Amino acid sequence: MHYPEPLAKLISELEKLPGVGPKTAQRLAFHIMRAPREDAIRLSEAIAEVRDRVGYCERCFNFSDKPICDICSDPRRDQSIICVVEEARDVVAIEKTGEFHGLYHVLQGAISPIDNVGPEEIRLSELVERLGDGTVTEIVVATNPNVEGEATALYLARLIKPLEITITRIASGLPVGGDLEYADEVTLGRALSGRRKL
Ligand SMILES: [Zn+2]
Repeated sequence: MHYPEPLAKLISELEKLPGVGPKTAQRLAFHIMRAPREDAIRLSEAIAEVRDRVGYCERCFNFSDKPICDICSDPRRDQSIICVVEEARDVVAIEKTGEFHGLYHVLQGAISPIDNVGPEEIRLSELVERLGDGTVTEIVVATNPNVEGEATALYLARLIKPLEITITRIASGLPVGGDLEYADEVTLGRALSGRRKL
């Protein structure tokens, strides 16, 4: 079936979203067509605004609408401990547990030779740079419990070893092969408090 060109364009853009197949894209597009005009405009403005106004924190690479994010600039956070995660969504998951009061570092990926992602492709050198002034005494590695996450944790352990910083890995108990963001708060909280030396 042929759609009017603007509708076809919307469907093909929606199809590019993760987890959205042709049928869902069509359903969403029809929904947008039927929704009040203001709602549709608000959606398009929200998309434009998030791209224009939200970037990455210059220090921890979490999402932020300021050069330095709210967590990094909060004096109540423990400056001596950094939790290293793969993605910004993992920060959200760990914050929800209420068990961690230090700072974060978002690698924006994990080492994965299969996908040609080496240590240079993620924010590792930026992390090492943050460790230079001696404030940080512990690194908690909270990469995902899968092959890429473990490879990244081991690389990080080797990288940090000469620096006399304690490096810990969140405890097992998280579903192996899974993503941190899918762990429930209690499990993730336990994994954090039960972290062990790497
Ligand atoms: Zn930050």
